[in-house]
Amino acid sequence: MRLETVSPTSTSTPQPTSEPTPTEGAKTVTFTIVCDNNPYAPAGPKTLRTSWGFACWVETQEMTVLFDTGGDGATLMHNMSELGLDPLTIDAVVLSHAHGDHTGGLGALLGTGVKPTVYAPASFPGSYIRDVRARTELVEVTDPMVVGPGMYTTGEVGAGIIEQALAVQTRDGLVVVTGCAHPGVDQMVRRASEYLDGEIALVVGGFHLGGASYGRIQGIIADFRELGVEKVGPCHCTGDVARRLFKEEFGDDCILAGVGWSAQYGLRTSE
Ligand SMILES: [Zn+2]
Ligand SMILES: [Zn+2]
Repeated sequence: MRLETVSPTSTSTPQPTSEPTPTEGAKTVTFTIVCDNNPYAPAGPKTLRTSWGFACWVETQEMTVLFDTGGDGATLMHNMSELGLDPLTIDAVVLSHAHGDHTGGLGALLGTGVKPTVYAPASFPGSYIRDVRARTELVEVTDPMVVGPGMYTTGEVGAGIIEQALAVQTRDGLVVVTGCAHPGVDQMVRRASEYLDGEIALVVGGFHLGGASYGRIQGIIADFRELGVEKVGPCHCTGDVARRLFKEEFGDDCILAGVGWSAQYGLRTSE
C-alpha cells in the first residue's frame, strides 16, 4: 500500500440510477459506486473506468463518507469527476481492510487537500496507520462505532483477513456496504444486524465468492434469507457464478451493481 498523489477534480450532485422512496423534505442517503471492476450499464453514457477494486460514495445532508478508495488514484479521481462528486466534500473515509484494491486511491484523495477522518481497522499495519496520520486524522476501529448520523461501522470482523463493513440505517431497513467480505459476507451482515436493529434492506459490495462451490454460495443465500436480506447488489469480488445464482434467487431484488450504480434511501437517524 502506497500513498500516491493526483490533482483535484470538480463538483455537483450524483443522479441516482435506481429507486427506493425517500419522503419529500426528509433526510436522505445516496449510495454511488465510484470504483468497481464491473460496469453498470444502466448508468448511461458516462465514460466511467472499470478497474479491479471497490469504492462507494455515501452522502447524506449531514456528511459524506467514502467507503474504500478503489485500487488506484487515477481511476478514483476520474470516476468521481465523471459522476460530479467533489472529493473536497468528503468528511470521512472508511477503509474495509488492508488490501490495495480498497486502499489504493487514498493517497490521491488526500493529495486534493481534503482532510477526512479515516476509519481503519486497528489491525492495519502500524506503518500504514502512521503514514496516514502524518496527513490526516485516523481512528483505529475495533468495536462497532458511530461514523455519523445514521452511519456505523461493524467494527473488526474475522480472524484471518480482518474487515469492517459500513451499515446505514434507512427508512427501508439497514443498508450494509461490504468491501471484499473476506470473513464471509453472511458474517459481515450478521454483525451489522446484531449491533443495529431492523430489517436488512440491501447488502451491496464484494461478496468474495469467486471460485466458491455451489454449496457455499447456496449456504450464503440461505443465511441471507434467514437474516431477512431484502435486496442484494453483488459486485467487485463476488464472482460471475455467485452473481448468477444470486440473480436467479433474488430476481428483481438482485442488482448486478457496478461502477456508476446509485440508489437513494430515506435516512433514519435517532433524533
Ligand atoms: Zn477487494
Ligand atoms: Zn481483499
